[in-house]
Amino acid sequence: MFKRKKEFEPFASKVWLSSPTMHGPELEYIKDAYETNWMSTVGEHILEAERMVCEKTGCGYAVGLSSGTAALHLAVRLAGVGPKDVVFCSDLTFAATVNPVLYEGGIPVFIDTEYDTWNMDPASLEQAFQLYPDTRAVVLAHLYGTPGKLEEIQKICKQHRAVLIEDAAESFGASYREVQTGHFGEISCLSGNGNKIITGSTGGFLLTDHKEIADKARKWSTQSREAAPWYQHEEVGYNYRMSNVVAGILRGQMQFLEAHIVRKKQIYERYQKGLADLPIVMNPYDPQNSRPNYWLSCLLIEEEGMCRQVRGEEESLYIPEHGKSCPMEILEALESIQAEGRPIWKPMHMQPMYRGSDFITQKGSGRATTDMYSKSKKEDRKIYLDVGMDIFQRGLCLPSDIKMSKEQQDRIIEVIRACFE
Ligand SMILES: *Cc1c(COP(=O)(O)O)cnc(C)c1O
Repeated sequence: MFKRKKEFEPFASKVWLSSPTMHGPELEYIKDAYETNWMSTVGEHILEAERMVCEKTGCGYAVGLSSGTAALHLAVRLAGVGPKDVVFCSDLTFAATVNPVLYEGGIPVFIDTEYDTWNMDPASLEQAFQLYPDTRAVVLAHLYGTPGKLEEIQKICKQHRAVLIEDAAESFGASYREVQTGHFGEISCLSGNGNKIITGSTGGFLLTDHKEIADKARKWSTQSREAAPWYQHEEVGYNYRMSNVVAGILRGQMQFLEAHIVRKKQIYERYQKGLADLPIVMNPYDPQNSRPNYWLSCLLIEEEGMCRQVRGEEESLYIPEHGKSCPMEILEALESIQAEGRPIWKPMHMQPMYRGSDFITQKGSGRATTDMYSKSKKEDRKIYLDVGMDIFQRGLCLPSDIKMSKEQQDRIIEVIRACFE
């Protein structure tokens, strides 16, 4: 391997990408569940956590579930997705957004990303409806806590009478035109996973304004019992209900959601300032219409600032160069000081398991990106538009833990700056 451009003192303890931060009330609620023996999937904390989530998001109903993935699975079923049904999905996202479509035998078709918010591109979505006019469901994720182009996407979904499922797992507390993410989909999902903006150690919520949908979700999540004295079953069920202990943690964390967002925003702005003169941009958002929750701070290296880097399926190589860097070099430098960064989600259409799936993109229009694998001179490089792949190649997630001190972040900024020396 090449020698790093500059060595830095590692932190005494690891600085995480995004780890749980507890405050106190969580423990009181856990203790209460324990002392009263309400340790199962029934109890006051579940109802209270659901109420608080409704109050925050403005949704009529919130159903506490075991995870965000469970919520997405029920959402896909509730949207009526069955075997061989095409579902349009965000492409640049975590696999959990899409896997539930497969659980139900559906066929995901991936929609390319736009550069303004790194979310689903409305023009590509519209094009997808031209190609698959019978599609009736769209799964939209808000990447890293930044709301997508909701006005356009909602409009397109309405026009084509498709159900919008919103995956707000990463964007709890973020809003678009004063409306919280999670309140745009006919069915939406939140996650209480350990690295999200608040956590219940696990857990999730299904959100909706429709009582029938909420009732169904509640029934399916508790093994689909009918109202009979014995175990009577008319349809398939799941063991997806939230635990009262998990709900207690979430109930405690809910009080700190806004405080977490304030810290995350500070972190984002410090990076923005500290890296301002480098050939990079931070993960963008629409300041006119949206307020992100700043869950993860990410950067994208300008093409002129990229050293040469190739990525195979499971390994990568780069050639260090003065004045330039690449995601792998920065990630290695962060690791050398015990700071945790992460590559951008590898787009779903690039994943081996989804290689046969269709991917809809705006070939030949908008901003052309560079083929990173091409060795030819810049002018001759193959021009094509695959925004998700481009962001994956040039971007990375920075340590965004709210327990990171200012001094720690300053050192991280120095380390990143040194990569461009
Ligand atoms: C974390 C996450 C999920 C899954 O949530 P879990 O609670 O971990 O099951 C789904 N979608 C996205 C975009 C996520 O980041």
